[in-house]
Amino acid sequence: MPVTSRFRQYDVFHRLFERVVVACIRADLVGGSGFAVDASLIAADAKKCRSTPGDKWDHELDPATENRAVQDYLASLDDPAWGAATEVVPKFVAPADPAAQWTGALRNAAFFAYADNYLIDVKFGIIMDVEASRAIRQAEVGASQTMIERTEATFGIKPDWLVADTAYGSAPNLHFLVDVKGIAPHVPVIDKSKRDDGTFSRDDFIYDDDHDCYVCPNGKIVPRSTRKRKTRGDDMVSYFSRVADCRSCPLKSKCCPKTPSRKITRHIHEAARDVARAIAKTAAYEQTRRDRKKVEMLFAHLKRILRMGRLRLRRPAGAQFEFTLAAIAQNLRRLAKLTIHPPDTSRLRVA
Ligand code: SF4
Repeated sequence: MPVTSRFRQYDVFHRLFERVVVACIRADLVGGSGFAVDASLIAADAKKCRSTPGDKWDHELDPATENRAVQDYLASLDDPAWGAATEVVPKFVAPADPAAQWTGALRNAAFFAYADNYLIDVKFGIIMDVEASRAIRQAEVGASQTMIERTEATFGIKPDWLVADTAYGSAPNLHFLVDVKGIAPHVPVIDKSKRDDGTFSRDDFIYDDDHDCYVCPNGKIVPRSTRKRKTRGDDMVSYFSRVADCRSCPLKSKCCPKTPSRKITRHIHEAARDVARAIAKTAAYEQTRRDRKKVEMLFAHLKRILRMGRLRLRRPAGAQFEFTLAAIAQNLRRLAKLTIHPPDTSRLRVA
């Protein structure tokens, strides 16, 4: 998503951020081949004691009579990075800053937060883009796509590969990286097909791309179902083995002990997931997992050294403003440091 009109008043700071990135590119601090993406939660200026239970929060507010925080919240309801990221009603809403997300993601006391999203070049950890989003996974993944698109449009740089954690391993996001952008995903796949009851998992079945079917461990064809799909939207395709094959199969007790035949499901973007699975078995993947730490170190610096554990401004625009200023400071610091003490580039890994 491009910088929207909601953030227009802070456009000047994003332009400044871009100028700093250009300076880093000119100083040869950006490799352009490998990027890492991650998000960190920053506490919002909102308190639980002044919040309202989410199911009691009134969406039918009149923007004309509400404060700017509520006006921003209402304007963001259809935005994929904010209100439209999920239909789940939050447990609490802070009327002072309703776009802040009540989250228990850090496994300690829950709090209101925004997500600070960084897209970095792994050569020297230069921040290529920064985006504020709602503090939930779907919004963070959407922000990563926004930043990849915007970095390509602004600087003409699209990485060959991207490293990220499991939160970015959904099939639609891997489809975006592999099929839409042509970026190799160094990302663990979110995969719930593994079975732990001793029966065969989907990995034990081999997919035949030419004939769009699976071959089971007993060498039988498991064809694609022609039945109309009823569940999980249109994203999953079902394959059923033939009852006649399974009836006399010596492996039935390890395959489908309670049903007459075996069902396999395949995501419509399974091919993109397979690309990520194949990359996860390479030696390069081990190195890129270490490269990912660079974005975590930037967040640690942000909180411990720049002391940005809590936002001072409210609203999505306020979060975007503070995150952008912090990213400018971190890039300038890196630029100054590496200009004074140029790195020994001969020891850098070529991906
Ligand atoms: S039970 Fe059916 S699907 Fe499973 S291995 Fe045997 S023939 Fe193949």
